[in-house]
Amino acid sequence: MEQSNKKLSEEKVFKDPVHRYIHVRDKLIWDLIATKEFQRLRRIRQLGTTYVTFHGAEHSRFNHSLGVYEIIRRIIDDVFKERPHWDDNERLLCLCAALLHDLGHGPFSHSFEKVFHLDHEEFTQSIILGDTEVNSVLRREGEEFPKKVAEVIAKTYKNKLVVSLISSQIDADRMDYLQRDAYYTGVSYGHFDMERILRVMRPLEDQVVIKSSGMHAVEDYIMSRYQMYWQVYFHPVSRSAEVILTKILHRAKQLHEEKYAFATEPSHFYSIFEGNVTLEDYIKLDESIILYYFQVWQDEIDPILSDLCRRFIDRNLFKFVEFNPSNEQMMKLMELTSLFKKAGIDPAYYLVVDSSSDLPYDFYRPGEEEERLPIHLQMPNGDVRELSRQSEIVDAISGKRRTDHKLYFPQDLLEDETTKKAIKKKIKELLEI
Ligand code: ZN
Repeated sequence: MEQSNKKLSEEKVFKDPVHRYIHVRDKLIWDLIATKEFQRLRRIRQLGTTYVTFHGAEHSRFNHSLGVYEIIRRIIDDVFKERPHWDDNERLLCLCAALLHDLGHGPFSHSFEKVFHLDHEEFTQSIILGDTEVNSVLRREGEEFPKKVAEVIAKTYKNKLVVSLISSQIDADRMDYLQRDAYYTGVSYGHFDMERILRVMRPLEDQVVIKSSGMHAVEDYIMSRYQMYWQVYFHPVSRSAEVILTKILHRAKQLHEEKYAFATEPSHFYSIFEGNVTLEDYIKLDESIILYYFQVWQDEIDPILSDLCRRFIDRNLFKFVEFNPSNEQMMKLMELTSLFKKAGIDPAYYLVVDSSSDLPYDFYRPGEEEERLPIHLQMPNGDVRELSRQSEIVDAISGKRRTDHKLYFPQDLLEDETTKKAIKKKIKELLEI
């Protein structure tokens, strides 16, 4: 087959605060970046509502996607090239999959998917395989090429070495987002020695292994991931904004079903509300559209919709208390629900339990659903060992799921003593606030 992967006449670079420069030499990559579906990622924040807590966290999925591409490019061009087990014919496929792996993310994707039962991974597949600019650029590499890219992202591609570069427990995706999110939030966690890890990565048959001399750098990466989850990703204040966002979407859907006359009709949402969203509708959605509606819905007559939108836009968030779903606490929640109703505050929108949980690292357990492949170390004698068997630090945290539950409510409404004072007092006593 004719080599259709044309190189650009001159290398292009993007200045990047995390990786310094992102290098593009392949015309195919350059043209993918220019497609409207990829440009849309500029208007989707990487960390959803985290910016309400860490004001620097305004970076987008566009930045992150370029970063993942760059990490893969360095692994292939600087470390794997000409090593045994590595087939350089897979290079362009890896680069495309890295660049496009988050293509289907929607606005505030976590909340959006939860409310409307959507799956960004399905949309990533549809954008790559459907009638899109991305698909037509990819097809220049051959009719089958888009399908291969989609398979790598879906982890079904036959060459598992390629899959593990894009998604394993130490992959380019995670290495980019940990560093990038640490940089933009300004926290001191999330930093680890990626250069060191890249240098000790080796292709071995169908997986990527790490030379055992790099074990401590990997431990640092796992700890930084653990800390980022609890200090940044599951921050209770960002979750409060997410709870409100979720409730706004629920309310708008509910009102649409009740044929409420919106002053500003949510025409961008019709097909999502009705469960028949097309790819074309989905691609049009971004965070600027969502925020536009939230902005104008502050003036809607429906008091719940307008109040929730005002809270989101002005960052007047819900407060929270710890909540542990034991029998006793569930009884308390039932009592609170009925008191909220009596106080005229709709508990369906104003009393919310939110749970977050994470598994810091897990080894492979046969028979259980495995999200990502485990990390394997290559010992000096050539043996391969699973990381938690070698590292006491990793062993101490592996397989341990940590879950955190919080109960969210609008404290300002409870402090308003103009109505139902006695009931509100009782609610506050129960919440211990
Ligand atoms: Zn990603």
